[in-house]
Amino acid sequence: MKINAELIIKLRKSKHWTQEELAIASGLNVRTIQRIESEASASLESKKSLASALGASIQDLDFEENAMKPCPICQSDDIYQYKEYFQYTGVGEELLPKLGKGVFGVAKICPFVCSECGYTRLMASSETRDKLVQSEHWKKI
Ligand SMILES: [Zn+2]
Repeated sequence: MKINAELIIKLRKSKHWTQEELAIASGLNVRTIQRIESEASASLESKKSLASALGASIQDLDFEENAMKPCPICQSDDIYQYKEYFQYTGVGEELLPKLGKGVFGVAKICPFVCSECGYTRLMASSETRDKLVQSEHWKKI
């Protein structure tokens, strides 16, 4: 999956770590670190190891893909994005049914809203997406 390599490099440098030192701290090998930093792609396992070594959350390392610009409905460029993933805590059914309960509590989502027409798009976190793929309640269409 795509990963925010720029942030990984920034966090690594802020700790004054070389790629070798990050490899030791994360338990990954140096070649894996080099590949992740240059290709901006990593497995979920590598991502978890890196997040833990760098003191970041897994969502922090997600690649920011703001593809909702312009708005697909009205073509406006006035798009607002919530600054981070948040846990939906509405009462009743979860926002994304059958994906929220358990380890992660509720689905972590990141909304985009068009200020012109109100069109809203939700981005599920990588954890939620992993659950989606494995869930017997959701079918791929
Ligand atoms: Zn719009």
